[in-house]
Amino acid sequence: MTEEVTQEHPIAAIATPVGEGGIAVIRVSGKSAIEKVSQCFKGKNLLEVDSHTVHFGKIINKKGNVVDEVLATVFRAPKSYTGEDTVEISCHGGVLVTQAVLETVLTQGVRPAEPGEFTQRAFLNGKLELSQAEAVADLIHAKSIKAVDAAHQQLEGQLGKHIKKFRQQIIDATAMVELELDFSEEDVEFANKDQLRELLVEVDDEIGSLLDTYETGRLVKDGVKTVFIGRPNAGKSTLLNTLVGTERAIVTDIAGTTRDTIDADWSYDGLLFKLIDTAGLRETEDVIEAEGVKRSQKAFEQADIVVYLKDLSRPIDSDEREEIASFQKRASKTPFLLVGNKLDVEQNSQEERIHYDLKISALDGENIERLKKMMKQRALENKDYDTSSLLVTSSRHRDSLQKARENVQRAIHALDSGMTGDLLAIDLRAALKELGTITGEITTEDLLDSIFSRFCIGK
Ligand code: GDP
Repeated sequence: MTEEVTQEHPIAAIATPVGEGGIAVIRVSGKSAIEKVSQCFKGKNLLEVDSHTVHFGKIINKKGNVVDEVLATVFRAPKSYTGEDTVEISCHGGVLVTQAVLETVLTQGVRPAEPGEFTQRAFLNGKLELSQAEAVADLIHAKSIKAVDAAHQQLEGQLGKHIKKFRQQIIDATAMVELELDFSEEDVEFANKDQLRELLVEVDDEIGSLLDTYETGRLVKDGVKTVFIGRPNAGKSTLLNTLVGTERAIVTDIAGTTRDTIDADWSYDGLLFKLIDTAGLRETEDVIEAEGVKRSQKAFEQADIVVYLKDLSRPIDSDEREEIASFQKRASKTPFLLVGNKLDVEQNSQEERIHYDLKISALDGENIERLKKMMKQRALENKDYDTSSLLVTSSRHRDSLQKARENVQRAIHALDSGMTGDLLAIDLRAALKELGTITGEITTEDLLDSIFSRFCIGK
């Protein structure tokens, strides 16, 4: 069977989450999708109805029994999500009913869809660019409102528009190079060379500006990794619970209870924070605790922001003073907040001479709102946080943009050092290829597999 035929083979899957609900939707797509569904649908002849119309009827199994009463919506190619003939069957939302309807459709010679296969077909049929297909997955997995916004931007094709513009600029540059193949010859017309250089510098700058949005884009999509650190009993788990609002971490007053890193997702003001409560970095003989310390170290290295919690009810010792100082030293690399906790039972701290960013009480909630604001502000400091404009949120896109930019820069360098046009053209073509992988003009099977396997079945 050729690849093309396989793609057109009708596929079906439950497109709504599995569980009890008012309705569930089963999506069937492929060349003979309408015919296959009509074979088990009692009602109007679906083969004769117009596109984008809804029809009441019954799904009948091979034994002639009614499986469910349903609504069938017919979409004719190419005006459907996949670009193929599609029927969406809305049935009653019970787990067993939905499964029975799907199975009845499958007995008509329809195959179960793979994860993301509908969207993959939409891409292969030119309904979506690759970056838009990825945005569909981002949208489904989005855990904060800002992440939803960013996915929408990409889904609308904003990224694709930028990439197309870069590609056009590079194609223009390539045309200029090919016109005037050898810039190193003494009698070439240099007017064009200046123009070419200008064009390449412009592309370089524009790709650079887009790349600059990745730092924010990554935080918006993946969340701000926030690591809580501090001595055992400082109140880290309590603070985490206060922020998240549930009893997520175990709180006890035995030092060293939080032996592992404990994670919780917390959304604040549209932004997702991934809270990581650590065992702390102190040295220990206890094997299990030592393992926890190792993980803390790792969490700390990947942190977007570190919150150090100091117990205000106890005097500080020289070890802790040193530890805090070492975090403060690294603060230019990883934003750092020094927070005093247990303000309600604070001991006189005259001799401490420590400057806290904030003093709180995790237990009674004092200053927690201020802490939240401060965490967001510190995490986004020095970042261009404008979520209304396009953000690069995927490391795949970042990598391709970076490689494309390097090739453009190489071309500029080649031009400056008087290299021949054919060498320049090689760099420019490489840049084009990198940009093409973002929108999907250039793909490999592995790349498609890795992208579409992130999807759920039915999407
Ligand atoms: P961790 O080891 O840093 O995770 O500390 P825990 O969150 O387990 O807290 C240790 C003890 O300190 C518990 O008994 C908490 O109830 C108590 N605690 C935490 N925050 C506060 C606070 O703001 N004020 C007071 N008085 N006690 C607190």
